[in-house]
Amino acid sequence: MNVVLVSACLLGRACRYDGATIPSPGVQIEVARLAQLGHPIVAVCPEELGGLGTPRPAAQLAGGDGAAVLAGTAQVVRCSDGGDVTQPFVAGARAALAAGVEVDLAILKARSPSCGPRSVSIDGVIRPGAGVFATLLQQAGAVVVDDEEFDPGSDLDDGGPAAS
Ligand code: SF4
Repeated sequence: MNVVLVSACLLGRACRYDGATIPSPGVQIEVARLAQLGHPIVAVCPEELGGLGTPRPAAQLAGGDGAAVLAGTAQVVRCSDGGDVTQPFVAGARAALAAGVEVDLAILKARSPSCGPRSVSIDGVIRPGAGVFATLLQQAGAVVVDDEEFDPGSDLDDGGPAAS
């Protein structure tokens, strides 16, 4: 059975930028179902794996989406002072990808600059595009979905449009 990767904060780990967690009941039900089918479940937080620590300053993408960051034409910056944190974001995403060899499915946190698979904050505005980790997974051929597919109508957020 192939690995299912999950954003650790959705499973109750207190790894968000502000030191909180944001558990998703819908994701937890789905993960339990997949585990029962025999899929290994791997919970990862790419930002912690990148050495950013928790709590950490909120960050957002600047100049482009995760694909642009990986191509070297955009950055990840701290929301507070614009400091460049691209390197730990990319390093953490690569480390998290390595944790899920043969990953077929990833269930990630919506709108995170690392994990968001459909839309992210770029230059302070929510735009279509994926975060750094979600992009790596998509480029590796994984199906990447977010928590809002399992908690429809929920107001769960990742601490604001830019935070993770
Ligand atoms: Fe970590 Fe943020 Fe991804 Fe949650 S959304 S796993 S806190 S990087």
